[in-house]
Amino acid sequence: MALEDLSQADLEQELAAATEAYGDFAARGLDLDITRGKPGTDQLDLSAGLLTAVAGDDIRSRDGVDVRNYGGLEGLPELREMFGELYGVPADQLLAQGNSSLTLMHQALSFALLAGTVDGDAPWVGQPRRIICPVPGYDRHFTLAEALGFELVTVPLDDEGPVLSAVEELVATDPTIKGMWVVPMYSNPTGISMSEERTRALLAMPTAAPDFKLLWDNAYGIHHLREPHAPMLDVLGLAADAGHPDRVWVFASTSKITHPGAGVAFYGGSEANIGWFTGHLGAASIGPDKINQLRHARFFGDAAGVRRHMSEHAALIGPKFAAVIEKLEAGLAGTGAARWTDPDGGYFITLSVLPGTADRVVKLAGEAGVKLTPAGATHPYGLDPDDAVIRIAPTMPSLADVTAATEGLAVCVRLAACEKLLA
Ligand code: PLP
Repeated sequence: MALEDLSQADLEQELAAATEAYGDFAARGLDLDITRGKPGTDQLDLSAGLLTAVAGDDIRSRDGVDVRNYGGLEGLPELREMFGELYGVPADQLLAQGNSSLTLMHQALSFALLAGTVDGDAPWVGQPRRIICPVPGYDRHFTLAEALGFELVTVPLDDEGPVLSAVEELVATDPTIKGMWVVPMYSNPTGISMSEERTRALLAMPTAAPDFKLLWDNAYGIHHLREPHAPMLDVLGLAADAGHPDRVWVFASTSKITHPGAGVAFYGGSEANIGWFTGHLGAASIGPDKINQLRHARFFGDAAGVRRHMSEHAALIGPKFAAVIEKLEAGLAGTGAARWTDPDGGYFITLSVLPGTADRVVKLAGEAGVKLTPAGATHPYGLDPDDAVIRIAPTMPSLADVTAATEGLAVCVRLAACEKLLA
């Protein structure tokens, strides 16, 4: 029976049982951390061959370019082709750049601030500016936009993407709404993927700002955990069909494919956007790290090589996701104290607890030796108005640790729910 439906006396009994289970768990003296959306060491090992893929006497790209020297602002063509195929972007509309897609997002927004966009009439700086943040979302998107002077406006996310009516209402009349963050596949942290219907609607909707942008951060686009998996949408083709070819800036990186912080990041867009981006980038750089790009191109060989590599990741992390789901089911099914996502890909599971208890759950877990991402981190300004969302990152700890941590977490959720209902 759901906790909410229990009599006062039964609920008090549940509280006593949860308190005892919590004490037992804390007594194990564990020190576990399920906050970090990073690959495990075994995943990093999958890319060990990268480190020897370029040798001192073998430094020419497919086209005979000596990758040790300056130049090639747009990135190595063989890598643009490989990842263009994977992300559904024509190679000449995909730039291969440095080690971080967040940096490219920061650059694109900075260029828009300083110089305006291809479809706007003025630089964004000096104008009031707001950006839509679907929630729950990725805290670094929020921090980045806030640091560049955007006011963060939230809209809810459902199973197909940002709730359309909420977005349409905002963009239709408010020219200060300049863009929206989108993680189109296996979103951080809910794991949902955008439907084609929702995507088409976002691409077609009228916007008061002529230069409104979708920041299409496909960070997890090829990070499937199982079959069948979400399809890769041809977002640039759909944008052109919708009559807004310049509305989308595509971002991706190999951060969670090879080595985070030492991978390759990509920017994709219409021909006009590519010209705009490289035009500004050319003032900042003589070219990206082509040695690293050649390493990646050689290590994978082709797009099929990347796909094979991604199934090796899935084989390592799939069991960790399954263990989290199993322990949540075992500890919480039927209690009505929580819901959780069971994503087909990506890096996170979202646990939604009774409103008003997320912060308490995080504290209880911390005191019992399980470190969780602070409640609120999934919302702009760190404020979850319902105090209900907890992000679980299963990839980095060992299978045994993630299993034990989730067991403890489920106990904390039950305890916090009983406390709340009795309060
Ligand atoms: N975008 C999303 C949605 C992420 O979850 C992350 C990392 O967690 C990143 C971007 C970071 O990408 P990069 O390492 O390419 O800067």
